[in-house]
Amino acid sequence: MTLDFSLSPEQEEIRDLAHQFAEKEIRPVAAHYDETEEFPYEVVKKAHRLGLSPAAFIPEEYGGQGLDFLTELILNEELSWGCAGIAVCIQSMALAMAGIRASGTEEQKKRWLPEFTDPDRLVLGGLGLTEPDSGSDALAMKTRAKRVSDGYVLSGTKQFCTNGGIADYHVIYANTDPTKGPAGIASFLVPKDTPGLRMGRKEKKLGVRASHTAQVILEDCHIPLDHRLGGEPDADNAGPGALGALMTLEATRPGVAAGALGIARAAYEFALEYAQDRKQFGKPLWQHEAVGFKLADMAMRIDAARLLIWRAGWMANQGRPFERAEGSMAKCFAADVAMDVTTDAIQVLGGYGYIKEYPVEKWFRDAKIYQIWEGTAEIQRLVISRAIAGQRATIKLRA
Ligand SMILES: Cc1cc2nc3c(=O)[nH]c(=O)nc-3n(C[C@H](O)[C@H](O)[C@H](O)COP(=O)(O)OP(=O)(O)OC[C@H]3O[C@@H](n4cnc5c(N)ncnc54)[C@H](O)[C@@H]3O)c2cc1C
Repeated sequence: MTLDFSLSPEQEEIRDLAHQFAEKEIRPVAAHYDETEEFPYEVVKKAHRLGLSPAAFIPEEYGGQGLDFLTELILNEELSWGCAGIAVCIQSMALAMAGIRASGTEEQKKRWLPEFTDPDRLVLGGLGLTEPDSGSDALAMKTRAKRVSDGYVLSGTKQFCTNGGIADYHVIYANTDPTKGPAGIASFLVPKDTPGLRMGRKEKKLGVRASHTAQVILEDCHIPLDHRLGGEPDADNAGPGALGALMTLEATRPGVAAGALGIARAAYEFALEYAQDRKQFGKPLWQHEAVGFKLADMAMRIDAARLLIWRAGWMANQGRPFERAEGSMAKCFAADVAMDVTTDAIQVLGGYGYIKEYPVEKWFRDAKIYQIWEGTAEIQRLVISRAIAGQRATIKLRA
């Protein structure tokens, strides 16, 4: 008997704690932050203090609690059930952490990962890959890292950066030698107070509005040599370069998928309860087959998404690479489910689904980004099609 869908007592405990937190601390303020687009610092600090931030999943050798990846996915689902925008803020330190874990040397991981672990000090992270002219084609980036005697000088603009300009640490991808194309790409840890780094335009968004999205502008940012993640290309500890970006995305996709799942579940639960309470033509809405079948489809698709996500988490826990792009499958499927389920949830509520008095229209707006960020739905399908056709090299999840 090797297949087992039950959670460990520790996983159940974290799920329950995260659910309570989402219910008591996130949901009551979700509409406020959606409206104001302020960063929910107090909620994020509290989640971090309670051990509900990504710091809990840093391996013990780097100062964390070393909780497993599947538990992180369960946590993400619950927090995003509360509010995806706030959940993104809580999880956003993982953006820098994932970049450090994918590309950093052992020494760099030992130096910087513990920075995120103090429960009384919130340290925000950001990751700058996308640029104004390169999104899906991320490796076509123009940001330049010029080697100088004692380090690098970074110049360029990063677009749509979550926590851009407010992160304590940004992991920035830049090309050290454009004549080499993607082979010249490396990543750099850029602390917030680095002269020449500043926040550009802060975006106003359709959804996940509590999260902060802004340009990061780098103007002759001098970075010490030891802030290049991974050693120099000719060193024994040479970093993975552009592959580090792909490793980072590969590792974070199941977590993004869990966020989409949390939104879908929130909308489904609300729609189900509504369809049981509201009567039209003398019977509850769910007893009209068109509505009942919609709810049945929602339930099936949510469970299917969770199975794909948990499979990816289980594989990562086992150290198995995503040979058939299982992380992309989970992310792509869960994002589509979130979009479909939130659309159907509005339909189940009718006019009440469309107005702001009810939370369903927010979940619908929040769901859309999951088909776009960390690789669009089209790019995920591209990755999956290459993997199943045997045309994609297997990428290690973590260095
Ligand atoms: C709120 C928000 C937060 C974000 N946070 C971050 C962050 O923290 N760090 C970061 O680096 N980036 C971040 N991004 C950027 C995000 O990852 C990109 O927006 C995304 O990768 C798509 O790039 P693009 O917007 O330039 O679209 P494009 O690449 O211009 O794509 C436009 C359309 O063309 C399609 N397309 C492109 N190429 C292909 C192809 N080969 N085959 C089929 N279809 C294709 C796309 O799927 C899409 O539908 C964020 C974006 C948003 C909106």
